[in-house]
Amino acid sequence: MEYNIALLKGDGIGAEIVDSAVAVLVKVGEKFGHRFYFKPYLIGGCAIDAVGEPLPEETVKGCLESDSVLLGAVGGPKWDELPGDKRPEKALLGIRKALGLYANLRPAKMFPALKGASPLREDIISAGFDIMIVRELTGGIYFGERGIREGKFGEEAYDTEAYSVKEVDRIGRVAFETAMKRSKRVTSIDKANVLETSRLWRRTMRAIAAEYPEVQYSDMLVDNAAMQLVRDPKQFDVVVTSNMFGDILSDEASQITGSVGMLASASLGDTKRGMYEPIHGSAPDIAGQNKANPTATILSAAMMLRYSFGLGDEADCIETAVDKVLGMGYRTADIIGTAGGTPLSCSEMAERIVSAV
Ligand code: NAD
Repeated sequence: MEYNIALLKGDGIGAEIVDSAVAVLVKVGEKFGHRFYFKPYLIGGCAIDAVGEPLPEETVKGCLESDSVLLGAVGGPKWDELPGDKRPEKALLGIRKALGLYANLRPAKMFPALKGASPLREDIISAGFDIMIVRELTGGIYFGERGIREGKFGEEAYDTEAYSVKEVDRIGRVAFETAMKRSKRVTSIDKANVLETSRLWRRTMRAIAAEYPEVQYSDMLVDNAAMQLVRDPKQFDVVVTSNMFGDILSDEASQITGSVGMLASASLGDTKRGMYEPIHGSAPDIAGQNKANPTATILSAAMMLRYSFGLGDEADCIETAVDKVLGMGYRTADIIGTAGGTPLSCSEMAERIVSAV
């Protein structure tokens, strides 16, 4: 099969980590008989420098014409003083909107070889955990009506949350379909004891659950979920939640793995085309030094194979290669920790993973 992939390397360590993922995809293509064609486009600070805007029209067009999009990261101190709507990060909202991406999938997986990096106690993580957080990305309080007005106590600010059945239904279906490819459990997180939007959310999720008898469904209040994530993370498989709860819980879930440089993400919509990126930023403090951990971006490429191209075996192959390389004790600086290992640069880590594919 042949696939066209748009590359948005962006700023900081973006080029190093995306080049690493490309090397792994090329090897997977050779091994399984696929052809990947890569086309780079500008995004973020480098686009501001080159053409004066963070998300050039040509980039949007190129992504829309591609089968999928691989993103590094955007932003850096050079562009920090620009006004909000001119900043590199603005391009992320723009590209998600242009591609109609409403579902954000963020795995938080404990890599057995990196247990020492988790801030949680050994007895809590001894059995490992592998959580997939499915976050609604384009609705809720981040997009609702807001403003400043004169209230009962003088000046007040307000933000509003609205969710339609349609929005909840489509993110719910992403969660249940994802669970069908995993261990068939979905936990929906809400605040139904207080919020009307959460009551509609819960009612809609329960209706979808009735259509998936194979999936074990439960709902949980967000305050309890925040506690359960650190008390017993392995109880979760797929977690589905609203934009703001997902923003907060996905960061909590990534922190308990202890290795931000290892975590991938996918943003999906109604078409097969998705945008895949590491959860970390452009790491300006180590940019251009060949020190970055390329694994999160490599695992993002694996998610692209699984979710956009339906190539599950090829995705498994990349994930197994990563486990193997970690198992052999190879580490980039961010994950070497106190247990030690063989220190590798970004390109050396990529070479090891390529060899293990
Ligand atoms: P960051 O994730 O870039 O860096 C936080 C810390 O983690 C740094 O010490 C960095 O060196 C380290 N780190 C991050 N990724 C690493 C990797 N792959 N390997 C090794 N170490 C790694 O977050 P920040 O410092 O808050 O933000 C830096 C810039 O990135 C800002 O301009 C921010 O707006 C931007 N940002 C972009 C995205 C994105 O493009 N999706 C996401 C978050 C932040």
